[in-house]
Amino acid sequence: MILPDASLGVLGGGQLGRMFTLAAHSMGYRVVVLDPDPHSPAGLIADQHINADYQDRAALQMLGDECAAITTEFENIPAESLEFLEQYCPVRPGADAVRIAQNRINEKTFIRQQGLATAPFAAIYEAADIADAISGLQPPLLLKTASMGYDGKGQQQVSTADEAGAAFIQAGGAPCILEEMVELEREISVVLVRNTSGLTAVYPVGENRHVNGILDTTIVPSGADTAITDAAIDMARQLADAMNYCGVLAVEFFCTRQGELLINEMAPRPHNSGHYTVDACATSQFEQQVRMMCGLMPSDTKLLSAVVMTNLMGDIWNDGDPAWQHVLNEPGAHLHLYGKREARPGRKMGHINCLADDADSALQVTAKIRAALNMKP
Ligand code: AMP
Repeated sequence: MILPDASLGVLGGGQLGRMFTLAAHSMGYRVVVLDPDPHSPAGLIADQHINADYQDRAALQMLGDECAAITTEFENIPAESLEFLEQYCPVRPGADAVRIAQNRINEKTFIRQQGLATAPFAAIYEAADIADAISGLQPPLLLKTASMGYDGKGQQQVSTADEAGAAFIQAGGAPCILEEMVELEREISVVLVRNTSGLTAVYPVGENRHVNGILDTTIVPSGADTAITDAAIDMARQLADAMNYCGVLAVEFFCTRQGELLINEMAPRPHNSGHYTVDACATSQFEQQVRMMCGLMPSDTKLLSAVVMTNLMGDIWNDGDPAWQHVLNEPGAHLHLYGKREARPGRKMGHINCLADDADSALQVTAKIRAALNMKP
């Protein structure tokens, strides 16, 4: 067990690292952030910011020497860097799990090996793979880069082999997947935590609405029925067990119009769709991340209030600072800003959690705030 006053390391200094740092600080731990951005949101508030690249061996060694345990806030950290750090202290989740989650081909193959469903897909390593792949799939399709794709980045819709070929060239010829577009009834996600002994705690299932491939809103409780949410929880647990996972794991699902439950992807870290836990649950996903890396027990994941989480994208800074009084004067609304210096369209700048007696009421308050901040309904 790693107890307060110890130093915890986090690879990546974005908003997830910042909320991890806030949770760790309130529990009495020190935090060391490694991130190449001198103004990273977590680096600004950490006890120490090692301002270096994720492959910089000297910097990784400094982090390893300094910390009692290390975690990661995004899956694109090179798995080799995590492996290197494993010689110094526990790294949770470990390199093996991150290696699976950071590559769509590895991820979807692994999910299928567990007997779990994904949308039909085929791996594309070179242009010559496209003809075969497309003959086994039903258009419309999405060509997604196998790595470094998130929030809908690196995705192109295609229907023919020619279009897929052009999209593959545009993706730089890097490994990709071709995936059938499914008809979505809704999207849901499961955030769970699993400790070193395999003890698991699961948060209530959230319903996610995306705009342009980026999460916009998470609603809890979700509108999915109990059979679906129970099945999703079982599938997420199965994945965590199969990886002997330690940490916070998020699994995103498609519920199709045909009644199927398909796994879209997983994230080996706290997740945007779990931000609601900070204000609406007995324990936040970030406190759980601290607990899991420290070899402690999972804590209570109980939902204390219905909640709607809304992402605040850089677009709403177009005319200067948004009129925050409309959020701050609303009882039940909790504003979280990440301290990013520059607001750009499509950049996640913060989020709002609206708590209310039920999801419909939380959606109503959210709609009022969105209108006041000139956000799309
Ligand atoms: P991803 O980066 O793969 O999580 O995709 C981002 C979002 O794009 C998803 O949350 C969905 O809203 C949408 N999307 C991705 N893949 C598919 C698919 N195969 N069929 C339908 N929508 C999809």
